Amino acid sequence: MNCKPKPIQFVYFDLDDTLLDHRHAERSALGDLHRTYGAHLGHLPLEQIQETYHAHNVVLWQKYSAGELRQEDVRRLRFERLLESLAVEALEADVLNEAYMERYTQHWVFGEAARAAFHAVADRYPVGVLTNGFSEVQHAKLDRFPEIRKRLGTLVISDEVGYMKPHPRIFAHAAEAAGTPPEALLYVGDSYHSDVQGALGAGWQMAWFTLDTETPPEGVFCFDAWDALVDWLLAR
Ligand SMILES: [Mg+2]
Repeated sequence: MNCKPKPIQFVYFDLDDTLLDHRHAERSALGDLHRTYGAHLGHLPLEQIQETYHAHNVVLWQKYSAGELRQEDVRRLRFERLLESLAVEALEADVLNEAYMERYTQHWVFGEAARAAFHAVADRYPVGVLTNGFSEVQHAKLDRFPEIRKRLGTLVISDEVGYMKPHPRIFAHAAEAAGTPPEALLYVGDSYHSDVQGALGAGWQMAWFTLDTETPPEGVFCFDAWDALVDWLLAR
């Protein structure tokens, strides 16, 4: 059987919900707002607030990604729409957004398993981060975890490139920054839409961090535990 693995020369990691647990930070920050603004939000189940916020935020990010909204619109509108959906009138969206960002920052987590795997991979391959997000926020995350930044050969943030994953241009930009041909690049990420489709569309190799490891797209390595990624990469 001819299944010699294709060489990998450079590994790019996604940041949110791959190296860092963004969803935990989002949910925890909303939990803090639920307590802080208990007089206005306390009668609502926290889960309803978390799910409603998330649903609005996803739609707004899609519009931002399509160039239909600016950053400041996304930040304001996600809370305007949340308050509208919850029929809460006595709170200001801008105040909530500011409180949210302050709390969100406090809840960033670089999990132990992700941390160990990141360093093991970085000991063997040059590594980079390729992330969708606001420049200021993504830089703040790397300032919080300087051990990630220290090991990066390249850092590519959608806000600074002008294209978001899965757009082929941001992958092309990242490949050029790494000085590596697309087929020798591996992307490690959690999102089917942004990461798997983006990387495969750009001709990269893909390691998909997903709980659904049953039906991997052709040529994609799926993992749900960080050890599995390291074993797979180091055995090559
Ligand atoms: Mg992600």
